[in-house]
Amino acid sequence: MSDQEPNESATSSGIDRSFLALLRCPCSKRHRLEEGENGLSCTGCERIFPVVDGIPGIFPDQDEESQT
Ligand SMILES: [Zn+2]
Repeated sequence: MSDQEPNESATSSGIDRSFLALLRCPCSKRHRLEEGENGLSCTGCERIFPVVDGIPGIFPDQDEESQT
């Protein structure tokens, strides 16, 4: 019950939490994304998506077929 963060809906990256909850990794598994040091990180494939001005740069990867 620690309140380290202020009572705001935005994360430290400036992304709205409800929006973040809707985001999915473009990988085939559609993992959820979570905040990382360098932006958003996939909870499954650990791919990192940079966040610029609160806008996550999530784009489909062209060689996602290489993963099993
Ligand atoms: Zn992923």
